[in-house]
Parts: sequence; C-alpha cells; structure tokens
Amino acid sequence: MTLVFASNNEHKIKEIKSLLGNSFNLLSLYDINIREDIPEEEPQIEGNALAKARFVFNTSGLNVFADDTGLEIAALNGLPGVHSARFAGENKDSSANIEKVLSLLGNTEKRHARFRTVIALILEKKEYLFEGIVNGTIIREKKGTEGFGYDPIFVPDGKICTFAEMELAEKNTVSHRARAFEKLKEFLIQY
Ligand code: IMP
Repeated sequence: MTLVFASNNEHKIKEIKSLLGNSFNLLSLYDINIREDIPEEEPQIEGNALAKARFVFNTSGLNVFADDTGLEIAALNGLPGVHSARFAGENKDSSANIEKVLSLLGNTEKRHARFRTVIALILEKKEYLFEGIVNGTIIREKKGTEGFGYDPIFVPDGKICTFAEMELAEKNTVSHRARAFEKLKEFLIQY
C-alpha cells in the first residue's frame, strides 16, 4: 500500500519507516514534490494533524497520514503543547525551547510531563484519528545527544535515562509516536 507521510522531517521519517516496516511504500512530501511548509495554526494537535493530512490529500489525491505532537507539562498548564515546535520563537530552535522550559520550571519539584501524538489518516476519502501518549519527567539539565526536540530533558516513566540517551529502537518501545503508529499499523493491517 502506498501512503504519503506528510512530513519532511528526516528524524521522523526514519522513525516511522522503522515502525511501519516494509509492508508499506512510504512517500515523504519531498517525494511528491510538496515543498512548502504546511500551516499549523489550529489550537489543538488534533486539528493540526487533520489540517496537514487534508492539505496533502487535496493537493495530491493520495492516501495520506500526518502527525502532530505536543509536550504537555502539568506545572505549565499543558504548555508548550500545540506550541512545542515554536515555543521560544519562529525558528523552531530546540535548544532555545529547552532553555525556556527549564527556566519556566525553575526549581519546582512538580516535573510531570507527557508527550502526546495524534495521527490523522485519510484513506479512501475517510478520516481517522489515532493517539499515543508517554508519561514522564522533565529533568533539570540536558542529557544525551540522540533524537531531537525535547528528548534531552525527558525521562519516560519506567526508565532512568532521557530519550536522547537511548538508541532509536529503545525509544520506539515506549514513545508517544510509536504508540500512535502501532495503532495506525494495526488499523492498516486489518483494513
Ligand atoms: P511535530 O508535531 O511532530 O512536528 O512536533 C512538534 C514539536 O514537538 C517538535 O518540533 C519537537 O520540538 C517536539 N517533539 C515532537 N516529537 C518529539 C520527540 O519524539 N522528542 C522530543 N521532542 C519532540
């Protein structure tokens, strides 16, 4: 089955290819010649995922899925949430985003957070949503160099190291995106 993954983020494409396996022919936006940044202006991650999938479907007519993820920190009332990519500014600078989170949290002991991914799938013109969540803790300083985004400050529950200290395969055993994509994969296999 050919499916477009509405992303040009190389880290994510690599993660998704390793999660979905070889039974799907996965195309990126680059592969289908969509070069522009698709607007992500909705107030919820569900809305952003759907907006991206609809944009690609309306442009290409191909079956497509899109994901959107937020880091939701309890002590910050769910921020950065839908603003995760641009929390510290328009240039999507991960280091600046991390600094902003650490500075807002200060010395608080309340460091619970979760990553939440929503995938929107458009298959034969019908829309479906899948959600994946991983709970964890925001540590006080960065650790590790793997992964991307907020990985260096997030320790998932049940682990002692950050996502950035893990190999991709280990991150995929617990991650928000892996959990959402497992649901997508189950659905597609049974479809
Ligand atoms: P996106 O919707 O997947 O592009 O994610 C929005 C933002 O959330 C990204 O720019 C990252 O800052 C952050 N993010 C998403 N997934 C992850 C992850 O697996 N680890 C760390 N940060 C992530």
